[in-house]
Amino acid sequence: MGPDEGDFAVVITVTDPEKRTRGGMTAFLVDRATPGFSLGKTEDKMGIRGAAVSELVFEDCRVPASAVMGEVGDGYRIAMSGLDGGRIGMAGLSVGIAQRALEEAVKYSKARVQFKKPICENQGLRWYLADMATRLEAARLLTMQAAVARQNGAPGLTKLCSMAKYYASEMATYVCDLALQIHGGYGYMKDYAVERLYRDARILRIFEGTSEIQKVVISREVLK
Ligand SMILES: Cc1cc2nc3c(=O)[nH]c(=O)nc-3n(C[C@H](O)[C@H](O)[C@H](O)COP(=O)(O)OP(=O)(O)OC[C@H]3O[C@@H](n4cnc5c(N)ncnc54)[C@H](O)[C@@H]3O)c2cc1C
Repeated sequence: MGPDEGDFAVVITVTDPEKRTRGGMTAFLVDRATPGFSLGKTEDKMGIRGAAVSELVFEDCRVPASAVMGEVGDGYRIAMSGLDGGRIGMAGLSVGIAQRALEEAVKYSKARVQFKKPICENQGLRWYLADMATRLEAARLLTMQAAVARQNGAPGLTKLCSMAKYYASEMATYVCDLALQIHGGYGYMKDYAVERLYRDARILRIFEGTSEIQKVVISREVLK
């Protein structure tokens, strides 16, 4: 949550330490104006700098019973129920960022002339573009598959969403890295879009479940 984001925060906390994820967590919708609730410092992030993120600070903060979302003990279920959709969203973000990075790389590689020819005439760079485009398309299809499965209430949704998020986020950092490489030294400069895309893409392997956690989920589903 950031300082300019919404009037409420969804807060999930342990309310029964014995039970924890088995009915021991509760979700609350907390009004920003509640005494004792404040935002800590706004984090100085590497990328996605358009979206502010702050620590949530609770000091003797009391909320009314009406703030409970669902039932007491429902918190873990509520948190998990949002994850499938959230992961499709992150996969979509990954595809969008990578699409732009590929377009920038194609444009630049046609325009930049080195050793008397556009750099896209070099097979080494063409192979980069081929790999980028292929992985992007694969990620797009995995993302669409997960979205359609969710819309249709298809079985195996959790695995499909984790696969889409895992593959698409890894693909996005790969594609942005190569797009920056194709720009050479200019890619490292803030004047070029790829510098920002590279930084923005990096969070995708971390939030909404890291790549390692997606592999935990996928392997658990595969072993079922
Ligand atoms: C910009 C930003 C925005 C965020 N926004 C939100 C938000 O809106 N809501 C929210 O709830 N959270 C948010 N987060 C938190 C984010 O979801 C977590 O940072 C992320 O899930 C990783 O958790 P962690 O940082 O505690 O890492 P850790 O759990 O400490 O993990 C550290 C490393 O260990 C690995 N690891 C941990 N456990 C295992 C395991 N069992 N097997 C293999 N590897 C493992 C991880 O994959 C990672 O590489 C945000 C984070 C950032 C940076």
